[in-house]
Amino acid sequence: MKPDKVLIFDTTLRDGEQAPGASMNKDEKLEIAYALERMGVDIIEAGFPISSPGDFESVRQVAKAIKNSTVCGLARAIRKDIDAAYDAVKVAKSGRIHVFLATSKIHLEHKFKKSQDEILAMAVDAVKYAKSKISNVEFSPEDASRSEKQFLYRVLEAVIKAGATTVNIPDTVGYKTPDEYGQLFSDIRNNVPNINKAVISTHCHDDLGMGVANSLAAIKSGARQVECTVNGIGERAGNAAMEEIVMALQTRSDFYGCDTNINTKEIYKISRLVSKMTGFLVPPNKAIVGANAFRHESGIHQDGVLKEKSTYEIMSPESVGVPVGNLFLGKHSGRHAFKVRLKALGVELKDAELDKAFEEFKKLADQKKQVFDEDLMAIVEDEVKVIKSTWELVDFTNVSGMNKAAKVEVTLKSKGKKVSKSSTGDGPVDACYKAIDKITGVKGELLDYAIQSVTEGQDALGEVTVKVKVDGKSVISRAASTDIVVASAKAYLNAINKVIATVSDRAPKS
Ligand SMILES: [Zn+2]
Repeated sequence: MKPDKVLIFDTTLRDGEQAPGASMNKDEKLEIAYALERMGVDIIEAGFPISSPGDFESVRQVAKAIKNSTVCGLARAIRKDIDAAYDAVKVAKSGRIHVFLATSKIHLEHKFKKSQDEILAMAVDAVKYAKSKISNVEFSPEDASRSEKQFLYRVLEAVIKAGATTVNIPDTVGYKTPDEYGQLFSDIRNNVPNINKAVISTHCHDDLGMGVANSLAAIKSGARQVECTVNGIGERAGNAAMEEIVMALQTRSDFYGCDTNINTKEIYKISRLVSKMTGFLVPPNKAIVGANAFRHESGIHQDGVLKEKSTYEIMSPESVGVPVGNLFLGKHSGRHAFKVRLKALGVELKDAELDKAFEEFKKLADQKKQVFDEDLMAIVEDEVKVIKSTWELVDFTNVSGMNKAAKVEVTLKSKGKKVSKSSTGDGPVDACYKAIDKITGVKGELLDYAIQSVTEGQDALGEVTVKVKVDGKSVISRAASTDIVVASAKAYLNAINKVIATVSDRAPKS
């Protein structure tokens, strides 16, 4: 039997961005949208256009650029919201308006102070209005999972009659168990007479750690669209993680009988990209995309996997695009071998970028015996694809010890001119940042700092992620090096360069 198609509705750019501290700028969102399109996401929810002019512009930019995915804008059941959503997505090759309105008793009584009949009328009116503008309309009864079932059925029937082509049943607060949530979908299919005229969708949050399990239970009971985010980022404990749902459907197609349009080999890359853009590190034990997801530590397991992979592997790292941690390149590898390896990892660089990446690779190969695929990916993402650097780190010397204040001298280069400054500080990283501030004339405030190793071993690359605030605006940046102070300096400098690039009057005086 041919598997049923489950549509992937990615809301990383909307619900995902609602995660505290995850805000992304327009260009970052566009880059993620391109990556989502490339991997075969069916619907990209690009934002909530009425919420701010920036969000409106960002949805419009994504709608204009994306050709192979439907681009969706969110709206409350209010005409001005629907107008804004329509104006933002109308340029899309395929656009959708997603209208939401709460239907649970708690929301009706406390948020709206309206009766069920009034809410029903509002929902129908909003869907009709959206439908008068665009054919592809989704309706979400917010907090559906805590709504009175009889009322929910009435609302669904009425909005489908009014023209909704997708009805989404959100577990907005992450309250349901898989059994209950799956049952709700069966009940809806049995009690809403015109349900076959719309696609039923699931939207789950992870407050009790059941976001993915609930989504899958809904699919088992007939949902054919699943709303999710990359790495499971989102409000509070986050949304259901796209990579986990997609891989569960693929690995257990025998059970679910469903598949998706996702090219799973793109999963690892997009996970890295979203982590980089939001500054949210992926925990090592995270399913599918965590650093340890495919590592076997116990001797018995290692032995088993060497003899026959399926002894301890239910899916292959290659199937999700995880670079396999084998030694491929070393000190004596040439430019061609380097290029070929990158290509195998799905990375194609322009000549100038390749030169820069190769230069970084050579430096790394001098410091590190074995250069793993993970290292190559870190070099490409953190060193090469960063925006054109205004300031470049040339050198630094560090004098620090347990009982004396750290002192650092930093040398930066801009437009061929080198500038050196020294500073003391609370540890070498702090001293280094102060020296960088002195040179660039930009005062950055460090909001967040995290360090992770890219591979195993004493000579592993350390990858530093920083969140820096300059003039009230925060930027996230990342850099890798075998020396963690160097990685820290580069990450901070990348952030400062980003700020300089967006504020032209900060360009260094030459
Ligand atoms: Zn949500």
